[in-house]
Amino acid sequence: GAKVIDMEMLQWHPTAVWWPPGLRGMAVSEAFRSEGGRLYNKFGERFMMKYSPEWLEVATRDFVSRSIYQEFMKGNATERGGVYLSLSHVPAEIIEKRLPTMLSNMASVGIDIRKNPVEITPAVHYTDGGVIIDILWESVDVPGLYAIGEASGGVHGGNRLGSNSLPELMVSGVRSGQVAAMRALRMNKNKKRVEADMKKVAEEQERVFSFFDRKDGVNPLELRDRLMDLMWKNVGIIRNEERLRKAIEELDKIWDEELPNVNVSDGSKNWSYEWVEALDLYPRIFTGLVMAKSALIRTESRANHYREDYPFTDNQYWLKNVVVSYEERPGSRLSERLEVTTRPVVVTLLQPEDVNLPSRVDW
Ligand SMILES: Cc1cc2nc3c(=O)[nH]c(=O)nc-3n(C[C@H](O)[C@H](O)[C@H](O)COP(=O)(O)OP(=O)(O)OC[C@H]3O[C@@H](n4cnc5c(N)ncnc54)[C@H](O)[C@@H]3O)c2cc1C
Repeated sequence: GAKVIDMEMLQWHPTAVWWPPGLRGMAVSEAFRSEGGRLYNKFGERFMMKYSPEWLEVATRDFVSRSIYQEFMKGNATERGGVYLSLSHVPAEIIEKRLPTMLSNMASVGIDIRKNPVEITPAVHYTDGGVIIDILWESVDVPGLYAIGEASGGVHGGNRLGSNSLPELMVSGVRSGQVAAMRALRMNKNKKRVEADMKKVAEEQERVFSFFDRKDGVNPLELRDRLMDLMWKNVGIIRNEERLRKAIEELDKIWDEELPNVNVSDGSKNWSYEWVEALDLYPRIFTGLVMAKSALIRTESRANHYREDYPFTDNQYWLKNVVVSYEERPGSRLSERLEVTTRPVVVTLLQPEDVNLPSRVDW
């Protein structure tokens, strides 16, 4: 199958709404902080003063996310589980003029940001890793497989800069779409057909409908929530070897023991939310394992990947990308079927010596 790269590089947005729940998960734009937004813990302490006295709330996304997460770990979160983001010290007319969308969005759930804080939490924002592609966004391993946007890997390095995803989508969508169409025309002209493996199709059909055959079993919504909790705690913003190994062990166990017992209780094949969630469990667990294994092998901190047991960037050893491939190994656990290797980073314009890259940077 297709190899993937950089799957340990998961970007967090530091300020997604946590409370009120009506807008939970919505990103509170960076403009909120650049207009003066301040972060406070439950004691009213402006905690960025201790993590980054120079940059405060406008430190980089990954840094602010880690700072908030550390407050959570110290027990400094609000009663509801977030931290406060406040603009109440900023003159109302500035907020009205510069942040009209945030003002009306938050008003829709009863918060007047001119007077009251929003409770926020870091939330997943972008997957830097994905399928290894060439300049036509075609997988280098599987001809005819095009991976664009967040499905592709290596386009934005380990920490994508703001606003670069949508322009990339526009370029990659057009380019790969044109190439895919030309490929299809060429194959048609040459009367080339790819025969589907009907045995595999039958196996897939059986898997997809198997959820309806079980009378009782694991509820997909409940398992989804447990998976999210497992990933947040063990493969999240601050990682270490012990928690990553725990996640791998748990994910393997869920794949072997719980996934085969997931059932969809409502029985409808026309529209079933449970069925959609049940099908999503496969890529959730699979991708979770790929991320955890990639994060485990990278014994340093770099870009969006932070290891508290290796809190430094190691340019001597780690100017490398982590690559994962899937190997069919009957009888082995899923994590053992994921082959993790590294390859040197392809350096193009600037060589490390041109920029005097230090061999090690402590975080
Ligand atoms: C809160 C937030 C704010 C952002 N702000 C910006 C910004 O200001 N500027 C910027 O450049 N980027 C921004 N980004 C990043 C950018 O929005 C995303 O990277 C981009 O939209 C990803 O596009 P995509 O097509 O790769 O994936 P998606 O938009 O996720 O599209 C994938 C689609 O595939 C569908 N799908 C999934 N599984 C299946 C399946 N099995 N079968 C069929 N369909 C399936 C999904 O439903 C979805 O519609 C932001 C991201 C977030 C989360």
